[in-house]
Amino acid sequence: MAASRTYDVLIAGAGPAGLATALFLLRERPALAGRIAALEKACHPRPKICAGGLIPKAVATLKELGVGLDAPAVEVFDGEARTPVKTINLGRRAEPLCTIVRRDQFDAGLARAACRHGLTLHEATSILGVRAEADRICVETTQGCFYGKVVVGADGSASRVRRDLFGGLRKDHIGRALMVDLPVDPSATDEFSNQRYRFDFNCLNNGLSGYSWSFPCLIDERPHLNLGIYQYRDRRFAQRCTPGLFEELRKAFPVVADRAPTQLALKAFPIRAFDGNDHFATDRALLVGDAAGVDPLMGEGISYALEHGRLAAEALRRSLDGDPDAFAQYDDAMRRGAVGVKLRRLGFAARRFYGPRHRLYFRLVALSRTAQRLGVDWYNGADGADRMSIAQVVVRWVSGALRPGGAS
Ligand SMILES: Cc1cc2nc3c(=O)[nH]c(=O)nc-3n(C[C@H](O)[C@H](O)[C@H](O)COP(=O)(O)OP(=O)(O)OC[C@H]3O[C@@H](n4cnc5c(N)ncnc54)[C@H](O)[C@@H]3O)c2cc1C
Repeated sequence: MAASRTYDVLIAGAGPAGLATALFLLRERPALAGRIAALEKACHPRPKICAGGLIPKAVATLKELGVGLDAPAVEVFDGEARTPVKTINLGRRAEPLCTIVRRDQFDAGLARAACRHGLTLHEATSILGVRAEADRICVETTQGCFYGKVVVGADGSASRVRRDLFGGLRKDHIGRALMVDLPVDPSATDEFSNQRYRFDFNCLNNGLSGYSWSFPCLIDERPHLNLGIYQYRDRRFAQRCTPGLFEELRKAFPVVADRAPTQLALKAFPIRAFDGNDHFATDRALLVGDAAGVDPLMGEGISYALEHGRLAAEALRRSLDGDPDAFAQYDDAMRRGAVGVKLRRLGFAARRFYGPRHRLYFRLVALSRTAQRLGVDWYNGADGADRMSIAQVVVRWVSGALRPGGAS
């Protein structure tokens, strides 16, 4: 007979969003140790289809949480973006633009840290259904029923919590991504010798709203390229056609085309894009990470998983202290707070850069090095750059452009 368990907080899914929620909450309230459980269908270290690129904001949040990167990571300091208008070189930076990890190791490290702080992790526990009862949440799993005062939906793009408690899974804001890892000789590979990542937006010429990427990474300490392609779909702009993702990836990075089909273990996975019209809380449930929706422009989700975890932990703490408005305020913060505003702006940018007039927008970006630098800093959230108001961005842009070498 499977055991039934009761906790204060149940977290559905032990990826970065669920584990960050637990870590933020337990660091703030150590007395909750043993009263928070995560239900995870896999066992860490579990495979996860992801390029593993951590933007500086994510790295800073991990430092704040006291979580080190145990597994070997590759840092990139430079970048290239091929666009339908011209190739933009981002220029070498003193600080990393991105830190590339392997998700199996990274997530396992987060899980160890959360358990050290008092999270109870139930692995090999698949959630089958979630329902709200009079004064508690019941989560039915392959290991029996678990009960919580509240539940956090951190179970990814196809979230069971979202499906059962938030009126189903809408599919009109789903991105999809396909990737492959290829072993390479680092001395003959630009991404390693120049410590840079590469993006290619030319699939836009063929009607695909997204981009391809090439990241250097280490798998079992051996140099590889992680190559992939992301497509964003939004009901607000029609797709002209949907060519094969793999065909477009091959065109962008011939290294893929050169490999024998047996070397190409392609993996694909959906990414839910943030929609500011969604709801992210009921009176007993919160959504975080991919279950809530992440960056529509690039499909970056780890930094948002961590930031959602921060907000969710704050709401849970206040709710457990008896604040009846804590979850409503979470919903508001998700939509109108700094993270929600950034995600809305990324949605706005995605509709411009992937829409029918994309050449115009790429041309504007190509005009100014200062704009490029500001855009990358804002995107990366380095030193709080993503908290700047539009007015502050304009002032910085103008003053940068007036400096010698500001415009390209
Ligand atoms: C190809 C690809 C490349 C990407 N590259 C990047 C990148 O470079 N940088 C970046 O920031 N983001 C990237 N992303 C996005 C990133 O992977 C996600 O945004 C991120 O993993 C979200 O974290 P999460 O915790 O919300 O969800 P997940 O990491 O998906 O974790 C959800 C957890 O819930 C568990 N789960 C799901 N259903 C159930 C169930 N029924 N019962 C129990 N457990 C369940 C899963 O096993 C999983 O452990 C990429 C995505 C893809 C598809």
